[in-house]
Parts: sequence; C-alpha cells; structure tokens
Amino acid sequence: MSARILIIEDNAPNMELMRYLLEAFGHTVVTACDGVEGLTLAHGAAPDLIICDIHLPKLDGLGVIRHLKSNLCTHVVPVVAVTAQAMVGDRDKLLGAGFDGYLCKPIDPECFVKQVDAFLPAPLRSVRLHTVLS
Ligand code: MN
Repeated sequence: MSARILIIEDNAPNMELMRYLLEAFGHTVVTACDGVEGLTLAHGAAPDLIICDIHLPKLDGLGVIRHLKSNLCTHVVPVVAVTAQAMVGDRDKLLGAGFDGYLCKPIDPECFVKQVDAFLPAPLRSVRLHTVLS
C-alpha cells in the first residue's frame, strides 16, 4: 500500500526533493505552495498525511495547523512540520500548536521517507520500508 500525501511548501527545490523521494517509494503526492491552497487541498484531496512548512505565504504553518486541528474533517489527519527552525524549544512549540511531528531541514534523503512513514498507519507505509518499520 501507499499513501496520498499533501506537501505544503513554498520553496521549490525543497518541494521537488520531498516529492521525488516520496514518489520513489510509491506514495502519491499532492502539492500546495501557500497555506490557503494547502487548506483547500486538505479538504479537497483527502490526504492520508500532510507535510507542512512553517514559513508560508498567505497563511503560515501555525495558521494552517490551527485550522486543520479545529475542523472535524481534518483533525485526525497526521500533520508533520518541516522547517529550518532548529532552536531549542521549537519542537515543543510546534507539537503544542497541534503538529503530530517535526522534521528538520535540510531534508536528509537517506531518512526522509522512513521518517514520514513513521507517522502513517502501518498499512499505508511504503512497501520497501514496511519490514524495516514493523
Ligand atoms: Mn517556507
């Protein structure tokens, strides 16, 4: 099995790297480059998981997570923050805001898909990593 993953990210090289890696492992990727478009697709594209940058045009990641977690249709979807913020305390701040997890930029191509898969229900994890994670 594989998952439908929504990526909300305004940096094109980061977006393309994440898309490439997730698709290489069999996931389906839907993309949005600002927070407002991200919310629209969170409702319209029925993602199994959302990866969300923090610094975004129109509506930032904290605004996005506030909307997602206060809406009955989206509050159960896991949302993972991906951001360059690396200061001590940011992890707690992001988890406190409602994110289910937190990954640091720069993205590590060796571990990224495995890190994302950990937030998916086992049946939706990419096939090549399933045995590693279970
Ligand atoms: Mn950004």
